[in-house]
Amino acid sequence: METWYKKTYRATDIISRNQNIITKLQRAFVYIERLNELGFDFAQDIRCVLVYPGNDYYTEMFAPDRIWVVQPKTVRESGLNYLTSLLIHEAWHIVQWRKGVHNVGSRAERGAYLKQRKFLAAIHDSSSIRWLDKAYKEKWWKDADGDHETRPSSNQDAVRSEIVRLVRRYKAGKIKTVRM
Ligand SMILES: [Zn+2]
Repeated sequence: METWYKKTYRATDIISRNQNIITKLQRAFVYIERLNELGFDFAQDIRCVLVYPGNDYYTEMFAPDRIWVVQPKTVRESGLNYLTSLLIHEAWHIVQWRKGVHNVGSRAERGAYLKQRKFLAAIHDSSSIRWLDKAYKEKWWKDADGDHETRPSSNQDAVRSEIVRLVRRYKAGKIKTVRM
């Protein structure tokens, strides 16, 4: 049994098997808080960032539960600016859900993209904006049948059901964690 670690920052649980991943995610939340006056504090509504120990870029926001599942690669390979903008993007899907926007696809994605872009513009990160614009033009959600964020790999179904199971375990308080 591998150890799961947990850090609770404000009201958000950050759970991973890797402590460095947790530290980096926490830095992103701290960053958002520091820029509070820019109006991105809704990102604190994320109840849990759950790091699924897989090996691709597939991520999923469970908006009604306010749980974002991400894999280590995305956290590791994103700079702090971009990672923070991703949290803002995902948190915006929670805001949308509350407003009754329950469909995924172009409408929801456009709103989340614009929020994410607004953050990157506020911190003057033009290279991240270029990266984001390119991803947006490729319509990352176009094969989505759920809240899929990143184009899933071929073993999508197996990974997805493991992710759903992990979320269920978290909600039931069944992931045993060591506090950081
Ligand atoms: Zn999205």
